[in-house]
Amino acid sequence: MAKLCEALLIEAPDDFDAWRECARRLVMAQIHPRDVIWQEPGGASADLLARPTDPALLVPTSSTPPRAPRQFVSLARKAFLHTDPARFALLYRLLWTLQQRPALLADAADPDVRKLEDLARTVRRDIHKMRAFVRFRAVQEADGGERMIAWFEPQHHILRANAAFFVSRFANMRWSILTPQGSLDWDGAILREGPPARREDAPAGDAAEDLWRTYYASTFNPARLKIKAMLKEMPRRYWKNMPEAALIGDLIAGAQARESAMVSAGGDAFAEAERPADLGAVAAGIGLCRRCPIGCNGSRAVPGEGPSRARVMIVGEQPGDTEEDQGRPFVGPAGGLLDQALAGAGIDRAAVYVTNAVKHFKFTLRGKHRLHQNPSAGEIDMCRWWLERERELVQPRLILTLGASALRGITGRSQSIEQARAAPHSLADGTQLWSTVHPSYLLRLDGPGRVREAQRFAADLARVAEQIAQIGV
Ligand code: URA
Repeated sequence: MAKLCEALLIEAPDDFDAWRECARRLVMAQIHPRDVIWQEPGGASADLLARPTDPALLVPTSSTPPRAPRQFVSLARKAFLHTDPARFALLYRLLWTLQQRPALLADAADPDVRKLEDLARTVRRDIHKMRAFVRFRAVQEADGGERMIAWFEPQHHILRANAAFFVSRFANMRWSILTPQGSLDWDGAILREGPPARREDAPAGDAAEDLWRTYYASTFNPARLKIKAMLKEMPRRYWKNMPEAALIGDLIAGAQARESAMVSAGGDAFAEAERPADLGAVAAGIGLCRRCPIGCNGSRAVPGEGPSRARVMIVGEQPGDTEEDQGRPFVGPAGGLLDQALAGAGIDRAAVYVTNAVKHFKFTLRGKHRLHQNPSAGEIDMCRWWLERERELVQPRLILTLGASALRGITGRSQSIEQARAAPHSLADGTQLWSTVHPSYLLRLDGPGRVREAQRFAADLARVAEQIAQIGV
């Protein structure tokens, strides 16, 4: 007959450390897995995870704590967050067996090991989905500030496990994530946990959503549509809380027509998009854009600046700390170096339209400092829609890209800077494309390497200046 064993009270279904302490005591009391009945915290029959009929059973018979490889603890920590009620028994069985078979995890055919890996994988996926699919809506707070609120329905007990991610990603904004399991509230300094919420507690929409939808529709590339892969990446159960998902059915249905339209329009994926009428509308649009994680990180978007019909456009990577503060591109240390180099080459910055491939600052928090992070290819590609709009409006005759992200922003593909700087060429619309390194690359060098690279940078700008002299600015 199975005995119920007294152990520790585990109050939350994601409290792995409490479970671990409980399991440790059970092993030291030599309680066999078949003698333990595990119950879900808050479950119907008891709010104790494990309960005794005979407390004496828990007297330790061994003074050696159980041992388990780090790999087990790490997998178990994830698997524990699964909603499968059998997970407690599984993990205890594995811990028990590991005492006799320390190499158990290497046995890929063992059904318990496979189940452990399976649970851990599912939980990791759920964690990832939450990071990708939480959609915030803005609400005005009593003090006039903005709070971003999201409703999300995790499949597993992952809310707390994801808290640190959201705090570091959205450190500068006030936000709440409401779920049926509980809620998180961040006020810019302190994270608070709250009770479970209902979907009605979160706002249904906000002013940014039409823009998101326009943007999603315009970046949806029917020629690349792989429905199965898309459903795997973005399963239907998440759609109801994602504003752009309302469009997916129609976009798929219209994909073929759009594809032929694209082909006849020369592959212009944005042919049907609503275009901002002027650079002011672009600036307003990027301010609202939260389509990609960088846009959602609470930083201020930085629009391009310069004459609205400049002959020359310079494209950088993304704003940094100083740029975000001032709302202007290239005004920090890299901007200082760029200004010097432009002046040295005789290029008048005031006559140039200066912008970035990505309009928000991507960073990671180290204490109070925001450290620059490179945007991913996907983020650059998301933001290209805005860069294209700037190009259409400004109509530069020459574009100079600084660094690999800028080059990808313009061309849509990753290329070697060394090759690109050696081979300026014309884009499909006749615009000349010149490329060189990013000034922050020079800032990271020192000694003779820096001198050499600074000279090459200056030489690249001098060649661009010659070209500008030919086309006239
Ligand atoms: N680096 C960039 O690429 N752009 C800026 O605006 C500032 C630094």
